[in-house]
Amino acid sequence: MFNNLSDKLDKALHVLKGHGSITEVNVAETLKEVRRALLDADVNFKTAKEFTNRVKDKALGQDVLTTLQPGQLMVKIVKDELTELMGGDTVGISLKSSPSVILMSGLQGSGKTTFSGKLANYLKTKKTKKPLLVACDVYRPAAINQLHVVGEQIKVDVYSEEGNMDPVAIATNAIAHAKQNGHNVVIVDTAGRLAVDEEMMTEIANIHNAITPDETLFVVDSMTGQDAVNTAKAFNDKLNFDGVVLTKLDGDTRGGAAISIKSVVNKPIKFIGTGEKMDAIDVFHPARMADRILGMGDVVSLVERAQEQFDEEEARKLQKKIAKNQFGFDDFIKQIQQVKKMGSMKDLIGMIPGAGKALKDVDIDDDAFKGIEAIIHSMTPEERSTPSVINGSRKKRIAKGSGTSVQEVNQLMKQFDQMSKMMKMMQGGGGRKMMQMMGK
Ligand code: GDP
Repeated sequence: MFNNLSDKLDKALHVLKGHGSITEVNVAETLKEVRRALLDADVNFKTAKEFTNRVKDKALGQDVLTTLQPGQLMVKIVKDELTELMGGDTVGISLKSSPSVILMSGLQGSGKTTFSGKLANYLKTKKTKKPLLVACDVYRPAAINQLHVVGEQIKVDVYSEEGNMDPVAIATNAIAHAKQNGHNVVIVDTAGRLAVDEEMMTEIANIHNAITPDETLFVVDSMTGQDAVNTAKAFNDKLNFDGVVLTKLDGDTRGGAAISIKSVVNKPIKFIGTGEKMDAIDVFHPARMADRILGMGDVVSLVERAQEQFDEEEARKLQKKIAKNQFGFDDFIKQIQQVKKMGSMKDLIGMIPGAGKALKDVDIDDDAFKGIEAIIHSMTPEERSTPSVINGSRKKRIAKGSGTSVQEVNQLMKQFDQMSKMMKMMQGGGGRKMMQMMGK
């Protein structure tokens, strides 16, 4: 996410390192590079210029803060301004009415249907809501079908009316249906076109007027940069939407839309989409995003994700097993599955301060666990619970069954052994023994 921009900003801010104080000359030099980085990221000219002017005023007015290195001070100012530019505070969605109605708008292909599903899934699992998805794209039967597939996948009801070509009527009927069936959130997915056109705008404005949604969200593909900003402007002029959803951030190396959209339409970004799967949705936090752009990671989000997956009951069971030396491959695979649920490896690594930058050229393979899982799945229950029974001939069989080599099986056994020993040690001497082992 935003790798190119992060790299360029990092280089720009490096210029100040080694200078003892902030002067007009070195600030100007740095800001020229910052501005170039923003323009390369497809941030619009006016936004980039105003941004660097604000940073300049702040930097030159801060010679009182002599305790900080100028480089660090500049990073802080850029971070604060970047946060402001992306909206400052986190803004959630309003779910006051019953049912709360959320209207999705945006161009075809922006990720509206996918996001409708993600949002329904998010509200269902995190906010214990009972959502209803509504298919209002009357022109493309495939789109209606797609929403039904998504609904089945996340186990959320989908409302559609075969043959009805009036999206306003469908949306209105859907709300009545929701009331009768105890749905407290209604998410209306609408038709999009390939470009902004009058007919589409009028249609969505009519739906908007008829159902008076609590939230009208504008969904846009962040990879389209300046186009995303222009489309946002056109939709906002007509719909006066409440917030933006930026999709496909996982593939966006530049970040121009994320940075400029708020300042152009003056509406907050509320959610981001970071992948095709139903759980690839995040609430947008401007400050955390600024941290990520500046290579400072996003520990808060990482911890939150870990907490979401943390199951106290399971943790207690695991602790007992470790204490009794009963930690087996079944437990090992459970741990792997929990980590996988937290998101893609690349995404997780990007949240660790410094790691994203250090590993940016390393091809991180999300399938890395697949080999391990295949090996474990080829073991018998006995082998999984008592790994010590795995001898040479069993290793050969496991390798054959999992399509791997004996060498790979050996490697996994070794890793497993080390991990078990380490866990046992952490349990016992509270880390003391480990320190001794490490020669401390
Ligand atoms: P719609 O026409 O606006 O409803 O767009 P869709 O929901 O059908 O999405 C268009 C394409 O973008 C599909 O192939 C989705 O899988 C993909 N997509 C949607 N959101 C994301 C995202 O956050 N990341 C990635 N990588 N792909 C996405």
